[in-house]
Amino acid sequence: MVSFEILCIECGTSHDPSRPAYACSSCGNLLEARIDEAEAAADLAEGGHSERPLSVWKYREAIPIEDATQAVTIAEGGTPMVRCRRLEEELEVHNLWIKFEGANPTGSFKDRGMTVGVTKAIELGMSVVTCASTGNTSASLAAYAAAANLDCAVLIPEGKVAMGKLAQAMMHGADVLSIKGNFDQALEMVMTAAEELGMYVLNSVNPFRIEGQKTAAYEICDQLNGVSPERLYIPVGNGGNSAAYWKGFREYDSMDLTSGCPLIRGIQAEGAAPIASMFSEDRSELIPVEDPETVATAIRIGNPANWKKTVAAIKESGGSASTVTDEEILEAQKFMARLEGIFPEPAGAAALAGFMKDLDEELVDRSSVVVCVSTGHGLKDPDTAIAQCAKPRVIEPTMEALSRMLGGAGE
Ligand SMILES: *Cc1c(COP(=O)(O)O)cnc(C)c1O
Ligand SMILES: [Zn+2]
Repeated sequence: MVSFEILCIECGTSHDPSRPAYACSSCGNLLEARIDEAEAAADLAEGGHSERPLSVWKYREAIPIEDATQAVTIAEGGTPMVRCRRLEEELEVHNLWIKFEGANPTGSFKDRGMTVGVTKAIELGMSVVTCASTGNTSASLAAYAAAANLDCAVLIPEGKVAMGKLAQAMMHGADVLSIKGNFDQALEMVMTAAEELGMYVLNSVNPFRIEGQKTAAYEICDQLNGVSPERLYIPVGNGGNSAAYWKGFREYDSMDLTSGCPLIRGIQAEGAAPIASMFSEDRSELIPVEDPETVATAIRIGNPANWKKTVAAIKESGGSASTVTDEEILEAQKFMARLEGIFPEPAGAAALAGFMKDLDEELVDRSSVVVCVSTGHGLKDPDTAIAQCAKPRVIEPTMEALSRMLGGAGE
């Protein structure tokens, strides 16, 4: 296994990696895994990683897990990078890609974090895993807990979880607890439960989840044949994933497996934008949004747990965060579905919405190599999709009725 430390991002205190920890014991800030990059680079080369098919575990030598042959895996990662020819034409840009994370086994990027996080839970001898979730985290954790034969309890905000996600958590056999409150309150409860009931928390404050999610950045570089994109657009909820991508690009660059790092544009929904407002108001402290509201339920987060990590990452990349409206998100969702054949859930269209807005405001060069991360699958949230589309037309079962309908459609 690669040498690594668990360090506080603020005061640098090192923590014992053989015990579960989500916050610094001396200052309470977030923790991160720091791997020995030189060692990882040498081991990746020696292991022949460039010959392996794309997947999270292609990069096993850069993932701080004791024994990757024991990984709890259901074939996550290795998701499509789609060159968006029709969108390029429509938007008059030259080099646009969508990294479709909805193609992961449970339909969101959360699987990259869970394969590593649940493997770590086993390594640490934990028997119960838990999370608070707007939906996808619980769907993913429930699946990996099932594969690992661990007990799983998930806390979701009552009435605010898309139907597909709820179905997944229930089907995989998790104990699903519906909280009469919002996500932020559910997360607080989970953190207390971790301490008092000895459960292993797999929210994105868990540094090992980030270690899995960073592999999406490695993959993008591999899929672009060893170069980084110039810009990455990514939705920001709790901010774990955007921080993970930045970590991935930085590590891959310093291991000499790609050249350069992209500028990161973090995209939030207007009604849930505590991080974007830090940028627009030039503030260095987070002011939580009391009642976050957006159609993109996966990023309906008012008090993002990883704000410090992601703000630092976005700034270091030379980028910034901004907002899109729900209308812009839904328009981008339809665009992706109708021009590229990719069906994202609303949060999975926010990055493209942000790129389209930047184009409108002339904030981006039309020839830049741009990757928009589409974080989750549209089938997660069929209600929102159906509400936007015309109902199927009902006809008699005759050829006459059919030809009248189809003939009429072209007029
Ligand atoms: C979890 C999630 C996000 C937000 O990611 P963070 O790491 O919380 O910023 C965005 N989109 C989808 C589909 C998600 O499931
Ligand atoms: Zn600290």
